[in-house]
Amino acid sequence: MATSLLRVPPPEELLRPLAVPERLLLGPGPSNVPRRIQAAGARQLLGHMHPEVLQVMDEIKAGIQYAFQTQNQLTLAISGSGHCAMEAALFNLLERGDTALVAINGIWGQRAADIARRLGANVYELLKSPGKYFTLQDIEQGLVQHKPLVLFITHGESSTGVLQPLEGLGELCHRHGCLLLVDAVASLGGAPIFMDQQEIDVLYSGSQKVLNAPPGSAPISFSERAREKLLKRKTKPPSFYLDMGWLANYWGCDGEPRRYHHTAPINSFFSLREGLAMLAELGLETSWERHQTNCTQLCQGVLDIGLELFVEEEKARLPTITTVRVPEGYNWKDITAFLMDNHGMEIAGGLGPTVGKVLRIGLMGCNSSSANVERVLRALQDALRCCQRSRL
Ligand code: PMP
Repeated sequence: MATSLLRVPPPEELLRPLAVPERLLLGPGPSNVPRRIQAAGARQLLGHMHPEVLQVMDEIKAGIQYAFQTQNQLTLAISGSGHCAMEAALFNLLERGDTALVAINGIWGQRAADIARRLGANVYELLKSPGKYFTLQDIEQGLVQHKPLVLFITHGESSTGVLQPLEGLGELCHRHGCLLLVDAVASLGGAPIFMDQQEIDVLYSGSQKVLNAPPGSAPISFSERAREKLLKRKTKPPSFYLDMGWLANYWGCDGEPRRYHHTAPINSFFSLREGLAMLAELGLETSWERHQTNCTQLCQGVLDIGLELFVEEEKARLPTITTVRVPEGYNWKDITAFLMDNHGMEIAGGLGPTVGKVLRIGLMGCNSSSANVERVLRALQDALRCCQRSRL
């Protein structure tokens, strides 16, 4: 009998079939993936430099330009999740010693400040309590005081459920010689954003929220002003993988023949292409309207069953993610676990500053429907009846 050299046997768990239950994903993301997008991701692989894949990349670029409402040439998808796009934006915009102003009213500003500090940037924080948004006056004060090169702000604050108004912000930043960087991971397609008209310099998003594609590719775009800043850098960006110079070439944004940079997640690109195609077919305005209508219905339903909303001002509520105060005497974990176990449905607890305080309900892309609003409200009522009140 041949003696094996292997000391680690094949894992038992891998010899069993893959187990993936059906589940309604009504948390802050990811959202469910429609069959059409699933099917696109399951197509046979092609090479990452094959003309058909380059064509799909061009189509993605056009789809992002539509979703962002921009004509920017430097528009592409990062091979990575929303965080990867956040790093791509900051790694390329900032150099050691550059001053950045970060608007913090939830976890995303905190993370952006952390990333910018790792780069050796001079970071100032503009703070607002969770549940609130920044006014132009708040921002102007920060710009005057700190004279930053870049302002980071989150359009859809998914940890608090706040929609940040963007009107006038780009113009204000430019008057103060500052670039405007906006995180639209949780809001793109669910709330209006106009990159060119609103003079946003860098905008990024994710694939797994309103676009209903799997996580792993992240739309991003740089304005001409932002591109000039990249060209003026004295040092190379600290990440090779996220170097916009290389990525611009791979995505055909620099007019040069395309060179291999990395092996792109081709199947994720197929899915993203379909997610963007479905948004284009539906139309941005219809999508925005649908998210608003279903969010309004959810908010009213939440109030009708005796719960409270975390964001008081109606116009500041994010149409994609609604934050509901954890009712007194209940443990949020009991409620989320109850929905998962008894209704096959995910909703989430708080994140960062809202941990323990809120439940987060996401209605994004195909999940934003009146039927889902009714389902989640029924499930919540059921949870309120059945979840034991925790001892206070
Ligand atoms: N920004 C915002 C506003 C988000 O909601 C998220 C995801 N929850 C991210 C950034 C990070 O995205 P990802 O989890 O895809 O890295």
